[in-house]
Amino acid sequence: MPQYLLFTDLDGSLLDGNTYSFDEAQPALDLLRSQNIPVILVSGKTCAEIEPLRERLEHQAPFIVENGAAVYVPLETFDFTPERSRRRASYHVIELGTPYALLRDVLRQIEDAVGTRLRGFGDLSVDEVMATTGLSREDALRSMLREFDEPFLVNGPPKLIEEICRQIVTRGLNWTRGGRFFHLMGNNDKGRAVEILLRCYKRQGLDPDLSDLETIGIGDSLNDLPLLLTVDHPILVQKPDGSYDPDIDLPNLIRAPGVGPAGWNHAVLDILQRASEETPHGQPLDIRIS
Ligand SMILES: [Mg+2]
Repeated sequence: MPQYLLFTDLDGSLLDGNTYSFDEAQPALDLLRSQNIPVILVSGKTCAEIEPLRERLEHQAPFIVENGAAVYVPLETFDFTPERSRRRASYHVIELGTPYALLRDVLRQIEDAVGTRLRGFGDLSVDEVMATTGLSREDALRSMLREFDEPFLVNGPPKLIEEICRQIVTRGLNWTRGGRFFHLMGNNDKGRAVEILLRCYKRQGLDPDLSDLETIGIGDSLNDLPLLLTVDHPILVQKPDGSYDPDIDLPNLIRAPGVGPAGWNHAVLDILQRASEETPHGQPLDIRIS
């Protein structure tokens, strides 16, 4: 059996899009843990939001925040200091994003340029964030502690949305779309952040010739496309209405038969089951990375 690394989106993927529960993915999470397969969280969420979630998940592995803007590596993960990182609390942090204050300025400029009000997270009250996202007050407050990525709402015809996206790109920034929001951000995406971690795992020497390292990626929305393009086994889960994001289509895409964490559970169990059947005498791989 190959050595797997699993990279997963949170909202709408590992976490239910409405209740933010991961209960339905628990059987697959248990199996991943028993096989020592690292699960790397790759989210549009902030570090402040992901930390309490990691406690609930008993999560030890690195995580990626704000759509690839920063990679958080717990100090004990690797026996070296990742390149370009700086120490922050109990992590090595690799920052790839553009400072939030600059994004806020550009959002105002674009608003003027297109003549339409754009409501970013920075314009919303806690109550408005709670109403829009369904988050609890505490989680909403944590989601507002943004450093590198501004989620914003647009109501308007496709032509207006196209123009806003064009205005973003002409200013040297980027946009993407998650489950609920458009996102204004710098030169970062989930795929680039995943590649950095992948290089770290390879350097750590999970596998001496690296030929057996296989990556699984799971997402539900357009902001997961760069992640899905980076992995060997890209998995797309269903949206709450049972549909698949129409903007994601890759030749080797696995469409999980289920919404969010239910699809997540099914697809992961399926891959691990098939891998164990293909190597009947395979031993569980010994990896020293938590
Ligand atoms: Mg998502």
